[in-house]
Amino acid sequence: MKTEHASVCPLDCPDTCSLTVTVEDTRIVAIRGSRANPFTDGVLCAKVPRAFPEFVHGERRLRTPLKRVGAKGEDRFARISWDEALDTIYTRVSAIIAEHGPQAVMPLNYAGPHGLLAGGSMDLRFFHRMGATLLDRGPLCGGIRTEAWLGTFGTAAGIRPEQIAQARLVVAWGNNVTWSNLHITPLIQRVRRAGGKLVVVDPRRIKIAEQADLHLPLRPGTDVVLGWALAAELERRGALDRAFIERWVAGFDEYMALARPWTLARAAETCGLDAADIARFAEWYATLSPAAISVGNGLERNQNGGSGIRAVFALPALAGKFGVAGGGLVNGARYVFSKTPQRLQRPDLVPPGTRTFNIVDAGAHLNDPRLAPPVKAVFIYNHNPLVVHPDQNRMRRGLAREDLFAVGVDVAMTDSMAYCDVVLPACSHFEHDDLFAAYGQHWLQRAEPVIPAQGEALPNTEIFRRLAARFGYTEPCFRATDAELMDDAIDPADPRLGGVRPSRIPTDRALAMTVDGEDAILFKNVFPATPSGKIELVSSYLDKKYRAALPSFRPAAARDPPRGRQGPRPRQRPARAGVERPRRGAAAAEDHRRGAARGRVQPEGRLDAYHRQRTNRLGAGPGHPRRHLRGRLLQRCPRGGRRRRRLSTGARARWPLPSIPTTSS
Ligand code: SF4
Repeated sequence: MKTEHASVCPLDCPDTCSLTVTVEDTRIVAIRGSRANPFTDGVLCAKVPRAFPEFVHGERRLRTPLKRVGAKGEDRFARISWDEALDTIYTRVSAIIAEHGPQAVMPLNYAGPHGLLAGGSMDLRFFHRMGATLLDRGPLCGGIRTEAWLGTFGTAAGIRPEQIAQARLVVAWGNNVTWSNLHITPLIQRVRRAGGKLVVVDPRRIKIAEQADLHLPLRPGTDVVLGWALAAELERRGALDRAFIERWVAGFDEYMALARPWTLARAAETCGLDAADIARFAEWYATLSPAAISVGNGLERNQNGGSGIRAVFALPALAGKFGVAGGGLVNGARYVFSKTPQRLQRPDLVPPGTRTFNIVDAGAHLNDPRLAPPVKAVFIYNHNPLVVHPDQNRMRRGLAREDLFAVGVDVAMTDSMAYCDVVLPACSHFEHDDLFAAYGQHWLQRAEPVIPAQGEALPNTEIFRRLAARFGYTEPCFRATDAELMDDAIDPADPRLGGVRPSRIPTDRALAMTVDGEDAILFKNVFPATPSGKIELVSSYLDKKYRAALPSFRPAAARDPPRGRQGPRPRQRPARAGVERPRRGAAAAEDHRRGAARGRVQPEGRLDAYHRQRTNRLGAGPGHPRRHLRGRLLQRCPRGGRRRRRLSTGARARWPLPSIPTTSS
């Protein structure tokens, strides 16, 4: 018999769609969008209905604890009981702590599930109590934008995305909305149908750029220059809101001293744009209101990323675009929720002086022989570092260390799990309760299990509850139920909950995170939460934390000197899920042995003649089985089909995923 259940998408995506899940017996047979969340309104991306049933029920699903019986990375495991798994972890980790101290243990987790419980609750209590090395996870993705926001506005929320519909000018800056923020797309189209304008700032001719009234394909890493040039041009046109700046902006003079030297011509030269296009953008921004800017994660993937984001955030402050519906910035959504991480994650349990690692450096730390104490045990969960981190080969070397004890927790077998000594089966979010506070919209949602736990899988919360018990952590916080954790995750006294405890929020509708019943609008009912109480273009927060009081610009050439006639050195990009970098020599032979040659090259665009020829010579054209290639992609040009620029990038090949072992104990 088929039944339908409400749920929420847990993926690392700003939209956080509400779902309707069709279950037949105990299997998920269909997933579609639901209207419980008015923002996502029944629409969702293609990957979730297509991939999730296989993820939950497929052959790679982990259903029992496993112990490694082959070499690291060899994918040979034997099934073990939960008791044996917990005993092994306790024995090995306790010995490491006795010899090296608790900081020799490192959690290596990221944003697999975005539920507040699965994402970081009992697990963090466990590591905080242990005194394990802390991990700063933000820098892997989104952290730069968050820091730029905090430094400029503090913990104030920007406008909710639905307000875009009321704008007369929409700017998608480094935000590939049709792929990564798709519910904004129909709002933009509504603006354009009503006569409004769309500006897209993105080095690539992304899909939404085809609809743009103006596409600015700037050079990667030059956003800060464009932001400064726009600020200077707004000033030249007399379009600055002097009264607003006087009352609400800190650091105007210092900021403009950096911006004024960037004339349209100089900025155009640096950004690789037409000066007339920058001028047109400035004119529209000066004359069209409300104007909404949505800043994506694209900027922070480059040199000067944080400075670029700050320069974009400065524009509505300078031009007086805040305080009206549809005006300002569609960012900072996370601050509209009354989250209480101090209660949920218990950072007060962390021993004083505990070190913190930047997640981006995790691979380096795993390979650092001088580290004191060294990392001797790692817990990998909510994460697949082998395919997500920069420098995969370094990460692989680190995880392959024979003296490293690795515990893995995941829903399905991954590349990283294959390097773990003990693998614990986690529930998918369809198998446990959770709360969802989005980072791209203003709706709070709760979900309950729609199917029973598969095999012996357990929710993350229960896995770490059992680990805490095995390690002898007897404080009451380690016995908290999932309902109690939900009540610790969100302030139950928040009036928007209407007296309903977070653990009792209905699952068939989303709760609007309004301000006194109205949409949050910066400078109408929300105000900067910075030390000065103003928008800080000179940021005391960023100065203290990074000595970056003001944005700065470092040309790409300062990092990557030209290589003469060969042209600029291709920029090494951070790894992406499912992407492997080329390897040479013995490593390449190992790749070949492991089946890397079965990967299929998946160019993102058309290869130019040289690389097409080279690709064909290697027998690696699109769809041909082949190893890794470095290709050169042609971007479709913004106007008239003329070639304007090329970006150097790696052609992609899929890395074969380990299979679930058949060996039994
Ligand atoms: S659009 Fe984002 S939130 Fe919605 S289903 Fe897809 S990944 Fe999940």
